[in-house]
Amino acid sequence: MRCPFCRHSDCRVIDSREVDDGKATRRRRSCAECGRRFTTVEEAVLAVVKRSGVTEPFSREKVVRGVQRACQGRPVGEDALQQLAHRVEEAVRASGSAEIPSHEVGLAILGPLKELDEVAYLRFASVYRSFSSIEDFEKEIADLRRPVAGEATELPGRPPRE
Ligand SMILES: [Zn+2]
Repeated sequence: MRCPFCRHSDCRVIDSREVDDGKATRRRRSCAECGRRFTTVEEAVLAVVKRSGVTEPFSREKVVRGVQRACQGRPVGEDALQQLAHRVEEAVRASGSAEIPSHEVGLAILGPLKELDEVAYLRFASVYRSFSSIEDFEKEIADLRRPVAGEATELPGRPPRE
């Protein structure tokens, strides 16, 4: 870390504390050359590795934009999208790896999106898993209708009509 005043590279850390729930570290440093003090904030960056090999920082906004497209015309509000992006970030961070392949971010989106809106989920999954035929949709819909183990055996979320 170079001193911002004299560009000297020997700077001592005199205080260090976690900020933003431990996602960043704030350090107070002192320059060994000119004696001036400055503060740095180092954020642990979560990198997403794209299929091309390019990495970019994880962005909740990107998750929201990606899901927004699938939610067009669906009753899904901005709050719900933000919450979904937050859950995705938590899941991705919980993996314990600093570099996440982009398809794992997609995987982390599928679960919460399925709970949020089944139509949006199908749209997103069709692109993400590159559905190529109507059978792919049928299979996915059959999976959606299959009761989750341990839950009631009725079809989920479909109250009987009169
Ligand atoms: Zn200095």
